[in-house]
Amino acid sequence: MEDKFKRIDLCVDMYGCPNRCRHCWVGHPQNGHMTVNDLTEIAAQFRPYAREFEVFDWYREPDFKDNYKELWELRKQLSDKITPHFELISVWRIVRDSEYVKWLVSLGLSKAQLTLFGGETTTDDYTGRKGAYREILQAIDILIENKIFPRIQVFVNKDNIGELPLVEKLILEEHLPERCAAFGGEFTCFVHQGSCDRENAKLYGVRVTQDDLQKIPPLLSDYTRKHFHAMNLNEVFGQTERELYQKLITDASTGSYVVDSPVLYVDHAYNVYPNISAPVPYWCLGNLKESSAEEILQNYLSGKSVAQTVRREIPLCEIVKQCGDPSSLRLFGEQDYIDYLVNKYCERKTSGVL
Ligand code: SF4
Repeated sequence: MEDKFKRIDLCVDMYGCPNRCRHCWVGHPQNGHMTVNDLTEIAAQFRPYAREFEVFDWYREPDFKDNYKELWELRKQLSDKITPHFELISVWRIVRDSEYVKWLVSLGLSKAQLTLFGGETTTDDYTGRKGAYREILQAIDILIENKIFPRIQVFVNKDNIGELPLVEKLILEEHLPERCAAFGGEFTCFVHQGSCDRENAKLYGVRVTQDDLQKIPPLLSDYTRKHFHAMNLNEVFGQTERELYQKLITDASTGSYVVDSPVLYVDHAYNVYPNISAPVPYWCLGNLKESSAEEILQNYLSGKSVAQTVRREIPLCEIVKQCGDPSSLRLFGEQDYIDYLVNKYCERKTSGVL
């Protein structure tokens, strides 16, 4: 390879996730059992091709495995410089491992995001794990006790948006704004429908429409607009599929997903994907057991995956025509809608329908 990439972020799904969320865009493959040596070897293969390189030991649940501290230190050795800990934590761990929150504090974490879907039964169901809701509540208390601000995100569809008053009730009854203010900060929260790929694409049938937005309580609406710096909820939830269909049905453009600072995902079976949409076979760039990192990066650069080929060769209007629904009132951000259509097109193509 002649030129190095400006930067590569390499995220390895070493251990998977304790949850099986119904909205999960990275999906539900079985949890892996990769070793420290595996991570070291994978990182070493990619490092020569980036002027700046960072490796992550997860792309599903961070800090899921007991050796999370060791992995953090290892990442420092394998990367040029590591990013401060994301505002994403392991709820599973924080309620089981009293050392974990102390470690997060020692890293300077000031805010952590937690995901609700409504009340207890619905949150457990959507998270795919009984007891998840109670653990999230416990996690909120632990975070506040340790002066880390919780940020609650709520993913909504038609079948759970009616439960938002329960989230509002929780915020008020638990005095979350006041408890955060007591140590000098601000409680934050937002409501969103998420993207529409992988598991979330199965929820297309219950995706929210314009009339659902009035079910968002004013308090949560205010938090949401503030979080997204939006004037109104439509800036957050996007346009109807019908509007997007009408706009894009005349768009003959094609596209490239290649950038100079790619984020790559490596799954537990050593398949490599660009972090654009779901890590599924039609996005796969190759398998490290069969191809070198250089070959995989060449596949990325030349857009060899099925999805990259589709986007590069098929005009967007044709993808919209084949896979869009001109009568649908479901709400999408424009890029999420294009990703949803490209994925749908690829699914049809790889299953022989197109
Ligand atoms: S959304 Fe996150 S927590 Fe839920 S299953 Fe996916 S990776 Fe795990």
